[in-house]
Amino acid sequence: MDFNTNTLMMIAAAVVFLILVAVILVVLKKKEKPVSKVVKQSGEQPESLRIKLAKTKSGFTAKLAEIIRIRGKVDEELLEQLEETLLQADIGVEASMDIIEKLREEIQINKLTDKDVVQKQLEDIIKNMLLKDYNDEKGFKIIAEKKPFIVLFVGVNGVGKTTSIGKLAGRFYDEGNKVLLIAADTFRAAAAEQLSIWAERTNSEIIKQQQGSDPSSVVYDGVMKAVNGKFDVVLIDTAGRQHTKVNLMNELSKIERTIKKIVPQGADETLLVIDATTGQNAISQAELFNKAANLSGIVLTKLDGTAKGGIVIGIKHHLHVPVKFIGVGESQQDLRDFDPREFTEAVFE
Ligand code: GDP
Ligand code: MG
Repeated sequence: MDFNTNTLMMIAAAVVFLILVAVILVVLKKKEKPVSKVVKQSGEQPESLRIKLAKTKSGFTAKLAEIIRIRGKVDEELLEQLEETLLQADIGVEASMDIIEKLREEIQINKLTDKDVVQKQLEDIIKNMLLKDYNDEKGFKIIAEKKPFIVLFVGVNGVGKTTSIGKLAGRFYDEGNKVLLIAADTFRAAAAEQLSIWAERTNSEIIKQQQGSDPSSVVYDGVMKAVNGKFDVVLIDTAGRQHTKVNLMNELSKIERTIKKIVPQGADETLLVIDATTGQNAISQAELFNKAANLSGIVLTKLDGTAKGGIVIGIKHHLHVPVKFIGVGESQQDLRDFDPREFTEAVFE
């Protein structure tokens, strides 16, 4: 073998080796499970609820303590000021009156004059009200026998429906579920696009049609796909922007009927999404939707941006619909299960 043949053989060997390495890399890459961007994000420690709810703490619970401190004595004027603060925190008229009535009773029966004792009493009354109201609630769980587990999201424009669906899709995927998103907000093309981005991020599949198509028709396609494709969880995004309340409610009941055509028991959960920063407006929306749809729970979003966290108390006390999730920011970890104990600890302690 002369020098040239030797060199040629070495080059050939190097080329074969490089091709082999490339093939092995491609095979390994294909085998890799797709990792959602959401999963990568969730490596970070979620911020504590205490930090997320800091505005409610400073603007509501700390304010109650401040009023008691400044007044310096326990009298009727103090009770009035406290009631005013409860109302401002959107606890609602009924629940605020209830709280003050209980406090007045405690003060009279136990002849309370110490402001620290009164403050502790007030906090206990609010905490107990929240815990009692939620005592019989089981939170949110996907029931395995019911698969596909169908969750319908309703609520007016901008409250956080699509974002909440995206966050939940990521969580359900992480828990090992095959997730389908249905883009029944056909009002704007951007709405389906926004949901598509979430589907991609969370390894979920999505069913959508072009802008302006009948929401119920998208729902029909989606639920069929979920049943035939053995999906575990189906999350349905809706528009909530009809021109009249009547139209909006008609559309919702049509969607409900459509689901029932395929899955007779209908949606397993119907969650109303409301924006905590809108206070009383959120409560009146909840009242309206509660009349029109069979709500099973509430997703209360944007609690990170408001001191109106007391709304949690008002909703359950007034509407008898439990808050199941709270939104405390824009990333996936920021949609949390609502745990009344953890919530009261975060805003009081
Ligand atoms: P939809 O119209 O009901 O679908 O509302 P979107 O999901 O599009 O949300 C409207 C805006 O609210 C978006 O900018 C979201 O990022 C934001 N958003 C949703 N939930 C939260 C939350 O819990 N905290 C904060 N700070 N922003 C939120
Ligand atoms: Mg939306």
